[in-house]
Amino acid sequence: MKGNARYTTGNIDTNDAFKNTAAGLKHGQNPYAVILSCADSRVSPELCFDEGPGDLFVTRIAGNYVTVDILGSIEYGTYVLKSPIVMVLGHTECGAVKAAIKAEEENASFPGHIQSIASNLSNAVRIGKQKGGNQTTEVVKANIRLNVAYLQQSTPIIRQLVQDKKVKIVGGIYDLDNGTVTIVS
Ligand SMILES: [Zn+2]
Repeated sequence: MKGNARYTTGNIDTNDAFKNTAAGLKHGQNPYAVILSCADSRVSPELCFDEGPGDLFVTRIAGNYVTVDILGSIEYGTYVLKSPIVMVLGHTECGAVKAAIKAEEENASFPGHIQSIASNLSNAVRIGKQKGGNQTTEVVKANIRLNVAYLQQSTPIIRQLVQDKKVKIVGGIYDLDNGTVTIVS
């Protein structure tokens, strides 16, 4: 969160430059956080937390939801690399969420595998739409919370790490207006 404050104020840390970290990172990595981010080009975890190579273990998928293969990466980041924190990172104006809302409201379908994104977000749409306010933002928040809750129980490895308080799973929403990440779960 301190890094996000540096990012939004333009006060970025230049110590993370490649030339400063490459030698140390050649033999291993020790990322302090695992991030499950949307693939959206407007949201970059390393940039928005003002971090550099070796700091974040990032998985990305449009709609930032958990899949079997994503679980493998998150288990690797937490169990093997011992990152103590996992953040599910959604964002305002998410196109994947908007598509899922459209699929629900207009029975829209999308070409090829794009449909599977909308289908995977349908629970979040149902929950988020029950709230007032900005529909897209509410569904984004619902999707973040669903995936945080799911991750906490998802696999024996991650469940045990959470129970032993070796890993904390949180959810954040990135605001495209101002670059701020706010904890929502
Ligand atoms: Zn998105």
